Amino acid sequence: MGRQESLFIKGYERACLFLTVWIGRIMAKILDISRFPELMDFLWQAIKPSSRRLTQAEEQEARKVFGDSINYQQVHFDEKSLIAWLGAKKHKCSGMGITSFRTINFNKKIKTAPGNSDMKWLIHELAHVSQMEHVGSKYMIEATYARATEGYGYAPGAKPIFLTITVNSRLQLL
Ligand SMILES: [Zn+2]
Repeated sequence: MGRQESLFIKGYERACLFLTVWIGRIMAKILDISRFPELMDFLWQAIKPSSRRLTQAEEQEARKVFGDSINYQQVHFDEKSLIAWLGAKKHKCSGMGITSFRTINFNKKIKTAPGNSDMKWLIHELAHVSQMEHVGSKYMIEATYARATEGYGYAPGAKPIFLTITVNSRLQLL
């Protein structure tokens, strides 16, 4: 195919991607307004009765980093997360944390103590919660967009943007 034609197709793909992201942003906004994150948190926690909240020591450490920017009362951990466990298996890593709105999924029980590596891991995952608090669901669209355009390159015909709920389950926030 001619150079001009391939440039045209590239431009067309780009336009499609931008349009999809734009629609995604609007959808995320609507979802935020309609309290979608709260609903998701509620559902997550309903199917995860084993989840726990931050311990006092963890909250104290987190406050040094995030101050009042996170609603700590609403943060939950699932330390027996199937998704995180599967993710760890797939990527052959010992530790996997997946943050979904205000629920943090770990593939194993974490043993936090001030300054230790599990505490640093927890703080890292809380950073994603903080991003969620500030940007809202849009954050997930942006993260996926960044992946589609930079991380993996954009393959023709691929659909980089899914509904937020799919994005959420697909994103592994490492
Ligand atoms: Zn991360």
